[in-house]
Amino acid sequence: MGLPFRKKKDMPSGLWMKCRSAACGKMVYRKQVEERLGVCPECGFHEKISAARRAEITLDPDSFKPLGEEVLPKDVLEFIDREPYGQKIAQAQKKTGRSEAALVGAGEIKGIRVVFGSLDFGFFGGSMGQVVGERVTSAVEKAVEEELPLILFSSSGGARMQEGALSLMQMAKTSAAIARLKRNPLSPYISVLTDPTTGGVTASFAALGDLILAEPGALIGFAGPRVIQTTLRTDLPEGFQRAEFLLDRGFIDRIVPRTEMRDELARILEYCLN
Ligand SMILES: [Zn+2]
Repeated sequence: MGLPFRKKKDMPSGLWMKCRSAACGKMVYRKQVEERLGVCPECGFHEKISAARRAEITLDPDSFKPLGEEVLPKDVLEFIDREPYGQKIAQAQKKTGRSEAALVGAGEIKGIRVVFGSLDFGFFGGSMGQVVGERVTSAVEKAVEEELPLILFSSSGGARMQEGALSLMQMAKTSAAIARLKRNPLSPYISVLTDPTTGGVTASFAALGDLILAEPGALIGFAGPRVIQTTLRTDLPEGFQRAEFLLDRGFIDRIVPRTEMRDELARILEYCLN
């Protein structure tokens, strides 16, 4: 009867992966997805990527110098839900190998110096607590001081609820820093919204870009669609809160596929700075 078939689940882990788009769900060759920077070769679905990977695919090789890594999370409120917040932080750090949900620093895109920042959805859902707020603010301040363009990639569930009001204060802090940045036309701010960008991040620095780009299919909003649907008791239109829906309504300026993002950013920067 020939060789026995190996079932898909017996494949060596890591060789194949299932596309996470519900509309696609196809088994795809992991290497092909990685070559396309985390985009499904079958349907174009954009997988979430880490902040470190974002820096790697956006900036020139070896140009990135991180900033604010000495600012580390603390459980100031001694918050406990199912387990103490302090323990959860330690677990998230161990799991991800990252110190917090924001990676910021200076780097170059095709030889153009920029300040770069990215949120990391893998760390507490990319939520903004004191450290994310402080690191994003340091990035903005560096752009102000050195008259550099600022590029921030958002990917966030919103405010870090375990830090209560202290996390909400980061909305005002980051927004005030961006307001200072906007006084200098030599420092354009490009905000890139990736899946998902929600809550306090959407309601602060992510929505304040001079130019707002988004990745295809990204969920972007303040409250999530389920909350709105339940509150309003009405059906929401097709594609509600997706990047394409928001482009039509003027909330974002352009949708840029991940494989074209670096080229597009370089083009915009050249246009703004020359
Ligand atoms: Zn797919």
